[in-house]
Amino acid sequence: MLAIISDIHSNTEALTAVLADIDGRGIEKIVCLGDVVGYGPEPCQCVDLIRQRATFTLMGNHDYAVMFEPSQFNISAETASFWTRGCLEAEPDDARRNERWEFLCGLPVKHTMSGQEFGFGELMFVHGSPRRPINEYIFPDDVYNAPSKVQTGLERISHLCFVGHTHVPGVFVDAPDFYSPDELEYVYEVNPERKAIINVGSVGQPRDRDNRASYAVLEPGKVRFVRVAYPVESTMQKVLAISELDNYLGQRLMEGR
Ligand code: ZN
Repeated sequence: MLAIISDIHSNTEALTAVLADIDGRGIEKIVCLGDVVGYGPEPCQCVDLIRQRATFTLMGNHDYAVMFEPSQFNISAETASFWTRGCLEAEPDDARRNERWEFLCGLPVKHTMSGQEFGFGELMFVHGSPRRPINEYIFPDDVYNAPSKVQTGLERISHLCFVGHTHVPGVFVDAPDFYSPDELEYVYEVNPERKAIINVGSVGQPRDRDNRASYAVLEPGKVRFVRVAYPVESTMQKVLAISELDNYLGQRLMEGR
């Protein structure tokens, strides 16, 4: 089995709960699709946990923003990004500071591997979309509003592509169509003949009105969507206590949006 997590957003309490759930299932391999940092209160802790636990990690737009520069960020995301950079820079231990910095700077934007052990074809992993791996959003509504965007994504993959970025879990297939985990009863039975772009949702800032952390598990023949409750109120209080983080970034955790 393989666990796929994304969009941690400096939320240690959500990440810790998800890692415990992964351990409880006896899963040893973890892929992280990026946005380890940004928005949340504990960037250094999350980078350290991901470095220890993830088999590989990809670059998200928030990781990129903290390391290099924010692009198309609203004011609260940009302010959070500069605050996050300050936290990483404030680490007094030179070796630790450099390790975190080099880890984030060196994240690749895309990874592919064989899905044979699960009975799947090629697996692609990106943060955003197959076409623009760091920054492009594929939203559920795009199947109606921008169907060519979804189709273009599907054309660029050979079987399955795993993404995060929108913080909304679910499966995109041709037509195009979108299925939420609810509609699938939390299990997508993979069709070997049908391409799919699968969003695993967000560990640290879910936006589908369910405030539990979201991630996915690859099992033979299927992809399982998992939700894990964590102390949301406690993380919200941490956000509210940091003046550089917009209060809304705490409140939205409670609401899952
Ligand atoms: Zn994100």
